Parts: sequence; structure tokens; C-alpha cells
Amino acid sequence: MTDNSPEFDLIARHFTRPAANAVLGVGDDCALVDITNGMDLAVSTDTMVSGTHFFPDVPPENLGHKALAVNLSDMAAMGAMPYWAMLALTVPTVDHGWLAAFAKGFFDLAEEFSVSLIGGDTTRGPLSLTITIMGEVPMGAALRRNGAKAGNDVWVSGNIGDAALAVAHRNGRLVLGEEDYHEAVMRLYEPTPRVRLGQALRGLATSAIDISDGLLGDLGHICRLSGVGATVDLGAIPLSPIGAKHVATKAGLTTILAGGDDYELCFTASPNSRDSIAELTDVLGVPLTRIGQVKRGKGVSLMGSDGKPVRIDGRGYDHFSGA
Ligand code: ADP
Ligand code: MG
Repeated sequence: MTDNSPEFDLIARHFTRPAANAVLGVGDDCALVDITNGMDLAVSTDTMVSGTHFFPDVPPENLGHKALAVNLSDMAAMGAMPYWAMLALTVPTVDHGWLAAFAKGFFDLAEEFSVSLIGGDTTRGPLSLTITIMGEVPMGAALRRNGAKAGNDVWVSGNIGDAALAVAHRNGRLVLGEEDYHEAVMRLYEPTPRVRLGQALRGLATSAIDISDGLLGDLGHICRLSGVGATVDLGAIPLSPIGAKHVATKAGLTTILAGGDDYELCFTASPNSRDSIAELTDVLGVPLTRIGQVKRGKGVSLMGSDGKPVRIDGRGYDHFSGA
């Protein structure tokens, strides 16, 4: 490309900001970063495709926030400190109003977490976004999915289900009141990545995952990789007032537990860590709730208030399930 091409102009106008954390940011063939001694580099990529991961009419500022938030959430789930992001953007047309709003959503969140955008790629095509995020975690201290032990507690941050309820409302699977929909859809559009919590859980959590595809399915990943099972107490799952209104219906229950898009952390820890974890709630201002137990065996079972197993249909979103 030449210096006055529309692509160069687009990158210069919307995506070139000082990269405080990097040796070299946007503009050269590669970005350069300096890794701290004694740290592992944590790297993750997430793609969001219009119509699959977001409604095509999502306000661009919300989309900029969300695209980065889901990547920050992966850093959180690993206990890593995020520093650098790359943005590969495919847009159907060059709409500077849209791009400016998208960039605002992106950079407002990036600044909140001191993350620098250090490069990317810009192409024309159906709207899709890929962000690669990089950060650091002390060697050997990352929170992995494979460390859960029988006898551990299962914990979850925040509350579960609102984002998925908004999606279910849009898709006509259930009906939210107008005010509830507007509140729930903000949880869908602007999830809060639990970055500080993830770092605080280093040395406390035996395993962790962020809930993107549904609580039960994502806890299932921890179980499979750890070679254990888990029981979850339905009555203990933290819900918002909106979730509480819908959990008693079949569609509501399935949506809350298997819908996803929560970007809360689900983690396991020894019962000896209960007091330390409870303290984090106060220090970080993030509710943390004990929802179940890791058991010997396989799979996740959900227990009702009568102590009997509850069956639900969905087990998390799977792009290749053919549904
Ligand atoms: P190349 O031809 O070497 O791939 P590009 O023309 O694609 O370089 O990009 C020029 C510079 O702009 C590079 O530093 C690249 O990382 C950066 N860049 C391109 N698109 C974006 C974007 N959407 N956000 C941030 N940086 C970008
Ligand atoms: Mg390129």
C-alpha cells in the first residue's frame, strides 16, 4: 500500500495510538515487545463473525468493547496480565463514523486495562474481527483447566445468564420485559472481563476457565481436562433479578446454564482457600459464589433443591455441532 491509500488512512485515523507498553507499535512490519524475565508469554486469539457472534445491528462502540473484552477474559481465565493486542479487522465498506465508534469502544476498554494496540491487519469483506491478545504470567503460575481435584469447591464470579437471556429474547425463545431486555443486552454487549480477579486467584484456584459457551459446558471442559466430575447446586447459582424471573421455566433454565456469553470466571479451589477467596469479594468488589463440588468420576451433574438431578437440554454453544 502507499502512504495515501484508504487503508493507510483508515489505520492512521482510527487505530494508531501511542503504545506505551511496546518497544514498537503500529506502523512497521512487526511490532516489538520486551518480555519480562521470569514471565511466560500468554497469547490468545478470538474471532467474532457478524451474525454468528454478534447481531449485525450491534452498535459499533459496543462491538469494539466486546471484541477486546472477550480476549481480556481469556487473559483473566489464565491469571495473566494483559499488555498487547493485535486487531485484524475485515469491513465491507470504509465507514468512518462506524470505525470511529468501534475504535472508541475498543480504546476506552484498552485504556482501562493499560493494554496497547500494537498492530493488526485491515481487509475488505464481510464484517469480522479477530483480536490477538498477549500478556505475561509468572512462570508456572498460570491458571490452567486441568488442575481440578476431587474435593475442591466450584466457584463462579458475578452472576450468570443475563447475556444469554438477551440473545434468547432476540431469537424468540423466550420473552423479557422491555426494561429487562435493555439491561440484559448490555451484559451481552459490554461484558466485564475479570482480569484483576484472575491474577488474584493465582496460587488459590486449582483450575479456571472463562464462561463463553455456558456455565455447564465450560465447567465440563475443566472436568474433562482434569479427569474429574462435578456436581452443581442449582439453587446456589448466582442470578440477577432478571435471571431469577426466568430460571423456573425450561427455556430460561437452559438459556442461563448453557447459553454463554457471560465472561465470568468459573474456577475450582481447595476448601482450605474459602476464607481467602471470600476476602477477594471485598477487595475486588466482585461477588464470588460457591456453586458445587468436584467429584471423582466424569461429567457435570446439576442438583435441584430436592437433591435430585436436573436434566437440561443444551450443554454449551458448539459451532460445529450441526444444530
Ligand atoms: P503489511 O503490508 O506489512 O501487512 P499493513 O499495511 O497491513 O502492513 O499494516 C501496516 C501497519 O499497520 C502494520 O504495523 C500493522 O500491524 C498495522 N495495522 C494494520 N491494520 C491495523 C489495525 N486494524 N489495527 C491496528 N494496526 C493495524
Ligand atoms: Mg497487512
